Amino acid sequence: MNATTTAPDAVPALEDARRFAAGPHRLFIGGAWADPREGETFATQDPATGENLADIASASAADADLAVKAARKAMESAEWADMKPNARALLLYRLADALERNADELAALETLDNGMPVRDARYFHIPYAIDQLRYFAGWATKLNGESIALSGPGTWHAYTLKEPVGVVAQIVPWNAPIAMACAKIAPALAAGCAVILKPAEETPLTALKLAHLIEEVGFPAGAFNLLTGFGETAGAALTEHPGVDKVTFTGSTEVGRLIIKAAAGNFKRVTLELGGKTPVIVLPDADVPQAIEGAARSIFGNAGQVCNAGSRLFVHKRHFDEVVEGVSRIADAMKVGAGFDPETQMGPVISDTQRNRILGYVSGGVDAGATIRAGARDISGPGSFVAPTVLTDTQAEMAVRREEIFGPVLCAMSFGDDDLEALAAQANASDYGLGAVLWTNNLSAAHRLARKLKAGTVRVNGGGLDPALPFGGFKQSGWGRENGREGIEAYTETKSVAMAI
Ligand code: NAP
Ligand code: MG
Repeated sequence: MNATTTAPDAVPALEDARRFAAGPHRLFIGGAWADPREGETFATQDPATGENLADIASASAADADLAVKAARKAMESAEWADMKPNARALLLYRLADALERNADELAALETLDNGMPVRDARYFHIPYAIDQLRYFAGWATKLNGESIALSGPGTWHAYTLKEPVGVVAQIVPWNAPIAMACAKIAPALAAGCAVILKPAEETPLTALKLAHLIEEVGFPAGAFNLLTGFGETAGAALTEHPGVDKVTFTGSTEVGRLIIKAAAGNFKRVTLELGGKTPVIVLPDADVPQAIEGAARSIFGNAGQVCNAGSRLFVHKRHFDEVVEGVSRIADAMKVGAGFDPETQMGPVISDTQRNRILGYVSGGVDAGATIRAGARDISGPGSFVAPTVLTDTQAEMAVRREEIFGPVLCAMSFGDDDLEALAAQANASDYGLGAVLWTNNLSAAHRLARKLKAGTVRVNGGGLDPALPFGGFKQSGWGRENGREGIEAYTETKSVAMAI
């Protein structure tokens, strides 16, 4: 079959987005737009067509150095360092409003660059980015230390201060570009840090638009800097730079490991949000139709390019056939196509490289004995499309079961008894520990399993992402937490002050 085609007329602000995408694009350093020092550029593509959208400035190590100096200057300037918390909050609220005013254009840009259905961009990704800015704006005025009672001889007045950690490099991936960029910059700016954002090479366009909106809103020079470019050059230069105090990274576990090494030089603070292999567990008393829909959404949403995608499905044997058939039926009926087509339910994956990688996992699984229950459809391009796929008869040691595929590929397994310990052990048999999903109406089983699962987030019967809910991974899924109080405190250093009185 062919991918469905684009219907551009129906999409608001698509022409504005195309005009913006066409450029020219530069780096944003110290409050001004600058050409890259070495004059290099790279192209970003529309994954639904393979078409080149724009030439993007490729930052070198020399540009990274300039951005770090500009950020340091902001940290030492009265304008940013002495800005009152409520003034930082106000800037973030204004930025959120600016995103809201530009939501249609941002959504169209996100779909052009990343491929996601424009409905998802407009009604999930952009609102989530706005929520992040507003949520953390609220924290700017609530970052308090505490007074501490000391027990030593004498009389003491002791307290803690929460100070901004300093210059922060923030490196993000391509699967949720604007949502992830705002989830990074919001707590850092609310805490009073100066930021250098490095978006993924595949999806720089919404980060560029964000930089223009930040300029329009009027943040002090150097508080926010944008370096478009490659991970191995701009990204690596930032993670090694002695002038960077902290790196926050969302991306693959493999690159996370490189970042830990690069950060060792000056003991940068490091927060890492890495890969996952989330188990979805359907217990005997689950609402089966809801579990079927939820399981499908969890692996096929964003074409499976979600760190938290529910890629391993464990179903009690009583419901196994019904659930596998249900999820497979949804997969087979899904409209896969260009993100601007209003019929599209699943867009392309980010690139042909990624498409081939995903198909390689599926064929490797089949060669090792797996059965394809849905997904054998051939989806011809142009564009990088993969059919939503369901596999059964996989074994624990197969790559398709162990490794993060980052595509719409589900492995379904059944479990037989009611031993929660054994079930948790199967679900925990992974190097990752980002998320877990339970479908059950048995409260006791839900809470007992929630304690046994080695995962940063356990969702029961649905439940979503929220800027207030700490998010992060156990094991090789990361270091630290984003969102919530912990998310903003990660951008502070605690200083203890003790005075004899
Ligand atoms: P990636 O290859 O690790 O890239 C992520 C970012 O790191 C990109 O901006 C990349 O630049 C940059 N980078 C690459 N090499 C670097 C280096 N040596 N030093 C510094 N930066 C470097 O990941 P991806 O393929 O874009 O994204 C998919 C991965 O992200 C998956 O593993 C997924 O699970 C993970 N993810 C995790 C979460 C979470 O919250 N836990 C959320 C979303 C995604 P380039 O663009 O130039 O490569
Ligand atoms: Mg692109």
